[in-house]
Amino acid sequence: MIIHNFNAGPSILPKEVIIKSAQSVIDFNGSGLSLLEISHRSIDFLEIIEKTTCLVKRVMNLNDDYAILFLQGGATLQFSMVPYNLMDKEAAYLDTGFWSINAIKEAKKFGKVNILFSGKENQYTYILKNYKIPHNVDYFHCTSNNTIVGTQMKIFPKTSVPIICDMSSDIFSRKLNFYQFSLIYASAQKNVSSAGMTIVIIKKNILKTTKKNIPSYMDYQIHIQNKSILNTPNVFSIYTSMLTLEWIENKGGLSILEKENKNKAKLLYDEIDKNSLFENKIHKEDRSNMNVSFFLKEKKLEKEFNKMWKKENIIGLDGHRFFGGYRASIYNALPLKSVQFLIEIMKEFERKFSS
Ligand SMILES: *Cc1c(COP(=O)(O)O)cnc(C)c1O
Repeated sequence: MIIHNFNAGPSILPKEVIIKSAQSVIDFNGSGLSLLEISHRSIDFLEIIEKTTCLVKRVMNLNDDYAILFLQGGATLQFSMVPYNLMDKEAAYLDTGFWSINAIKEAKKFGKVNILFSGKENQYTYILKNYKIPHNVDYFHCTSNNTIVGTQMKIFPKTSVPIICDMSSDIFSRKLNFYQFSLIYASAQKNVSSAGMTIVIIKKNILKTTKKNIPSYMDYQIHIQNKSILNTPNVFSIYTSMLTLEWIENKGGLSILEKENKNKAKLLYDEIDKNSLFENKIHKEDRSNMNVSFFLKEKKLEKEFNKMWKKENIIGLDGHRFFGGYRASIYNALPLKSVQFLIEIMKEFERKFSS
């Protein structure tokens, strides 16, 4: 039975990754032991961390100026780790939706937050491009993909200030010049692996200046010194990330994935725009290629539409509880044929119910 998994997170992973990671839980590398039964300081596991680190750098085309960390506490912990380590007085933030708001809320506990743009007035349906980043701020923070409303930053500002980016829901989905960022963080459960692990990519030279007495787990420098094993890391999620990164590399890397993702998104947005019963509220240039949100023009058809997709093994199409409507999350591992199938259902729905 084929299930079309449009879940927003935790979400779809490549089938072969799921099979290999499941196998490692039963018998890790033919050792007779489960991955869950071996020491995180064993040679076998150190090799996995090393390999995953190299894969992240290779896939993103980054050099050794950057450190790669695999931490716990989700992207949510990064909302406070970033200002704890990097904010002396003031930082600039873009408010592009729910996750930005949460990041801003934590940052305010550490200093002054200068909000350069808020999408609140237009229900977060667009992202301003011509904002000015002040020179005197410690860093600029943005959310590359807004998982809930379905917007995505397609361009990033040119600035001498370090750019910090929450890429939780679009990491490894497209090719970018990653050198423009000083710190990238992403919780793994959207496009990479299981929950409980966050990838943090840091340009090491931005860390020198901090004068605070930072608790050890919150201190990037300490994690770098300890190569992500200050304490016991999430071994399963790290191993599964390694498998996903191998899958990405075998497919041909980020440029291939970007092409596939753009194609899937275009097909779906084209259908939403053409179909007389649906609409998408996001400004066209800001539409996300990962999370496609849409609404029924007539709310009274909701019951009928829900009945239709739910009986076809389509999963996870309900919109976020704060935004309503529908949301199709079309991450890297979601096959083109699932998008095509959803489009068929939307077409059939239009044939049946448009007047
Ligand atoms: C899901 C998500 C988060 C929260 O991640 P947790 O791992 O639950 O802390 C933060 N930012 C973005 C953009 C997300 O999509």
